[in-house]
This record gives sequence, C-alpha cells and structure tokens, in this order.
Amino acid sequence: MAIRKIVLQGDEILTKVCKPVTKFDQKLHDLLDDMKDTLEQANGAGLAAPQVGILRRAVVVLDDDEAVLELVNPEIVFTEGEQCGPEGCLSVPGKYGMVTRPNRVRVRAQDRSGQWFEAEGVGLTARAFCHELEHLDGHLYVEHIDRFLTEEELVAYYREQGYDMDEEGEE
Ligand code: ZN
Repeated sequence: MAIRKIVLQGDEILTKVCKPVTKFDQKLHDLLDDMKDTLEQANGAGLAAPQVGILRRAVVVLDDDEAVLELVNPEIVFTEGEQCGPEGCLSVPGKYGMVTRPNRVRVRAQDRSGQWFEAEGVGLTARAFCHELEHLDGHLYVEHIDRFLTEEELVAYYREQGYDMDEEGEE
C-alpha cells in the first residue's frame, strides 16, 4: 500500500472520461488500497481513480458511518430531495464553493471482486457520491459554481450549521 500523488486541476487527466474496470485483479486491489491510504492521508471525504492518474471507473467514498466504501463501475440509480452546501476537492486544494446536490443518493456498483451491490447515502455521503462519480466523466464541481467561497463565508456557514470545522473533508 502506498500514498499516490493527487492530480491537480489544470491537468487534462481530470477532463477525460474513464474506462470501465474489466479486470478484478491484484492491480485493481492495489489501486483501491492506495486510494484509501491517499484519501486517509489527505483527510478527504472521497477520491476518484483519475485523481491519482488512473483513467478507470473506481472511487472510494466515506459513507454515513465514516467507513470507506469502494465503488467500481458505479452508477447513480436513485436520487431524492435537494441540499445546498459547500463542496471542496482534493484536486482543487484549499477552495470551496456552494453546490446544490440531491440529499439522498443510491448507487449501484461492483466491489473489488466484481460483485454488484447497492449503497445509499444522505447528506455529505450523497454529495460525495455525486462529486466522485462526476470525476469519472471528466467533470469537476467547480463547473457548478459561480465563484469560490471566501474563508469568512465558509467559517460562517459551518458556524450556522453547528459543525466543527475540523470534521469537513475535501473530495
Ligand atoms: Zn474531487
């Protein structure tokens, strides 16, 4: 297991459509393990394979219980409601913008051995599902915002919500 280098906004890797994963082999397992290590080290809420330079449809996301979910070839199958809140990205470090997302999202994906399963998330997890799956099609959250939030706006938002600033991760 290893920490991989995170690709930053401006690199054209982040604009490409990723190919489906077809081999559920050791190479995939190593990639997922490394992505989990990299996510943990960066204190993020989610990470997509293109963010470590691999153009395959695989993401890791913190679920509602803060466990790391591995989603291979994921698709959104159901959404409900709406939420608007600050969103960040490990490929756009230190910046946040307000993005509207569904409040509840269910995804269908394969695990590291190729078994299909469904997972559901609300709030931040639902947001992370949407954010990470967009990476697989070459999109960044910044496409949804008019401008980045100022530090003051961000702090004010979290105070209003009663959150501890240290809990918020980037995706
Ligand atoms: Zn991101």
